[in-house]
Amino acid sequence: MGSMRFPSGAEERVQQANEAFPADGVGWTPIMEEAQRATRVLHPETMQLPRPDRRRILTVANQKGGVGKTTSTVNLAAGLAVQGLKVLVIDLDPQGNASTALGVDHRSGVPSVYEVLLGEISIADAAAVSTESPNLYCVPATLDLAGSEIELVSMVAREGRLKEALKSDAIEQIAPDYVFIDCPPSLGLLTVNAMVAAHEVLIPIQCEYYALEGLGQLLRNIELVQAHLNPALWVSTILLTMYDGRTKLADQVTNEVRGHFGELTLRTVIPRSVKISEAPGFGKTVLNYDPGSRGSMSYLDAAKEIAERGVERKTA
Ligand code: ATP
Ligand code: MG
Repeated sequence: MGSMRFPSGAEERVQQANEAFPADGVGWTPIMEEAQRATRVLHPETMQLPRPDRRRILTVANQKGGVGKTTSTVNLAAGLAVQGLKVLVIDLDPQGNASTALGVDHRSGVPSVYEVLLGEISIADAAAVSTESPNLYCVPATLDLAGSEIELVSMVAREGRLKEALKSDAIEQIAPDYVFIDCPPSLGLLTVNAMVAAHEVLIPIQCEYYALEGLGQLLRNIELVQAHLNPALWVSTILLTMYDGRTKLADQVTNEVRGHFGELTLRTVIPRSVKISEAPGFGKTVLNYDPGSRGSMSYLDAAKEIAERGVERKTA
């Protein structure tokens, strides 16, 4: 991450902390915690996360618009990538917002997920390296994808086209540890393709009024896909986004979601942050745009939690 900007003073704080606490086993203190955080910002590559046993494919879905699907996809993907894992993002939304945030060209005509779904090109042909990290690849979405919901209807094995593309040898050229699929805000054929291709569903939930509205429909759709198309699919991860600590409502929603989904809900909550919303305007993730910000830290933490839980579950 050569282009990262570092918050001023972070390097000094690491040094101060190292001098103050030279040996291991000294009690955990706020300055050490801060030092660890600074290290993560300055040298995220030293925070190597565990690689999963086998490739994890996560579909990021919620048919409700604007809940943080794309923001979470790109920042979690970048969070895993800067912490040493290889990640592929598939932009499955014709708006192409994930491609934008990852600095990947998605003008009409560039090789994209559209041609992949049509079976014309492979994932490796369409994938571009993100400007955010050499470990991070993105298959962009162009506006051509907008017509595909209709075009796909008449195709053979229409629900399994993305799964097929992800299975092929082509993806071995990239050999990602993680694949994230960013879905559009609908439960149409594109989202179904994403659910058939994945092992896990990650549902971002915005800490707002009516947060749980529509979730029943999403969960029923996931059950249908489980029953008929992909028995291995499960909701592995709930991520609370746009949390505003100043409001009572945010805590109510958080408690309600944790009550409902229990330990599937990540401990890390993503705060509402201007930096997070500004970053895509610069073609960046928040990790690159403002690495020391709360938003950036929260996505690094969430990525770590996802990686570590994946490994814990396997051994449990
Ligand atoms: P769509 O359903 O349209 O695909 P989405 O679920 O992908 O939307 P995003 O595009 O990620 O949602 O986010 C919606 C808007 O909220 C964007 O403008 C984004 O920048 C902003 N946003 C997302 N997360 C945060 C956050 N934690 N703090 C502040 N703004 C945020
Ligand atoms: Mg989106």
